[in-house]
Amino acid sequence: DNNRFQAIISHCKEYGFIFPSSEIYDGLGAVYDYGQWGSELKKNIKDYWWKSMVQLNENIVGIDAAIFMHPTTWKASGHVDNFSDPMIDNKDSQKRYRVDHLLEAKADELEKGGKKEEGGALLKEMDALLAANDFAGLKTLIEKNNIVCAVSGTCNWTDVRQFNLMFSTEFGAVSTEDNEANIVYLRPETAQGIFVNFLNVQKTGRMKIPFGIAQIGKAFRNEIVARQFIFRMREFEQMEMQFFIRPGSQKEWYEHWKTERMKWHLSLGIPAEKYRFHDHVKLAHYADAACDIEYDFPIGFKEVEGIHSRTDFDLRNHQEYSKKKMQYFDNDVDESTGKPYGNYIPYVIETSIGVDRTVMMVLSEAYEEQDLSTEEKKDSRVVLKFPPKLAPIKLAVLPLVKKDGLPEIARRIIDTCKPQFRCFYEEKDTIGKRYRRMDAIGTPFCVTVDHQTKEDNTVTIRYRDTMQQERIRVDAIKDLILKNIA
Ligand code: ATP
Repeated sequence: DNNRFQAIISHCKEYGFIFPSSEIYDGLGAVYDYGQWGSELKKNIKDYWWKSMVQLNENIVGIDAAIFMHPTTWKASGHVDNFSDPMIDNKDSQKRYRVDHLLEAKADELEKGGKKEEGGALLKEMDALLAANDFAGLKTLIEKNNIVCAVSGTCNWTDVRQFNLMFSTEFGAVSTEDNEANIVYLRPETAQGIFVNFLNVQKTGRMKIPFGIAQIGKAFRNEIVARQFIFRMREFEQMEMQFFIRPGSQKEWYEHWKTERMKWHLSLGIPAEKYRFHDHVKLAHYADAACDIEYDFPIGFKEVEGIHSRTDFDLRNHQEYSKKKMQYFDNDVDESTGKPYGNYIPYVIETSIGVDRTVMMVLSEAYEEQDLSTEEKKDSRVVLKFPPKLAPIKLAVLPLVKKDGLPEIARRIIDTCKPQFRCFYEEKDTIGKRYRRMDAIGTPFCVTVDHQTKEDNTVTIRYRDTMQQERIRVDAIKDLILKNIA
């Protein structure tokens, strides 16, 4: 629900996870900065993805391509002509909306008002009209559903039109004659950096089909409706993998990657009922099959990841525009003909997941407000139950008091552990308050050094989720934590 969503946004700001960009100037629409703990969380998510996709798959390698690419890239990829969304303007409020967002919001409203079937029917009708590019039909659907602008309360709409979502800028010295020639785009997806390097990587890496190329990097889209925190940003990060395969084997590999990616999501400890697949009715300009993995956010089921069967669309177009062969020579023998497969342009299955949406998913899943009141006193806590491998800080070391040599022992524990994982030292406030602060940023383990530590070399370890405490030997701390974050 929306209260929970707002509570998470406030928590993120208050505890150093995510700030609005340039906040001292009142922020910049749909742009966010990651703070001290948010950046650790985000990095851990990227590392975990990279490990699962690259380190654990011998036939997948990574690259790091530039954000700027030759402008022809985006002609070949279809983004100059097709990367646009149908939008509509409200003439009274002079606000522009994405048509699908307006209708989705209406469907949500119907569902919340107990009219689930009507909402579903509306989305079905919208999908069909979008698939047919029926702009007049979309406008009628908006008017028929009496969608009014929240600001002006009226509904005087323009026609539905397409707007391109790519950001552009100019390169080098600007020529006065040919402005077009200087225009470069900020990439709206990382995938094209992989396609244009397909042969470089295949040849230098001696890669054999099937193989994949993975990449993590920034992408930019001039999103129109952008009011959903880090769900829809104008600058965001993607983790993409393009898997190159023999033409004809795409159905099998598409299913393979659907299964593999769902396994990855479940490995985050998120229950299966929080996920669903959503098959695309309207396919993007490059795809012959596509689906989303949706997660049940506090604002409803929404896309986190897309899995797309991109055929040979991208490589074929780059071959046409660049006049460079984008072919692979396959000397494996085709059993049906008894001859080698020979030369072909590979087909591609893509898995594309947003880093920021994954951060939001992990935060939504982890955030819990707990009432800990007893007969004697009222008490509560906010805890972020991150999987330990994703937690910004793994271990907090807390001396009970600021004297008697306890800080020194705590420092020695940190010195032994910090080369292996992120630790945190704190000596201010009561132990109870320090535990609460660690709960609020999702630290899975706290150890407290007390006077007994000096006698028997043990500390109290306190577990975030159960709040259980037990004594363990100082020299057992590091291994216990390493075991839990592996
Ligand atoms: P949507 O329909 O929500 O706009 P999309 O289908 O256009 O998303 P893709 O082009 O498939 O998204 O991009 C792959 C992934 O990149 C998405 O699943 C999402 O996680 C992420 N992503 C796309 N656009 C944004 C954005 N504006 N802000 C944050 N993440 C995004």
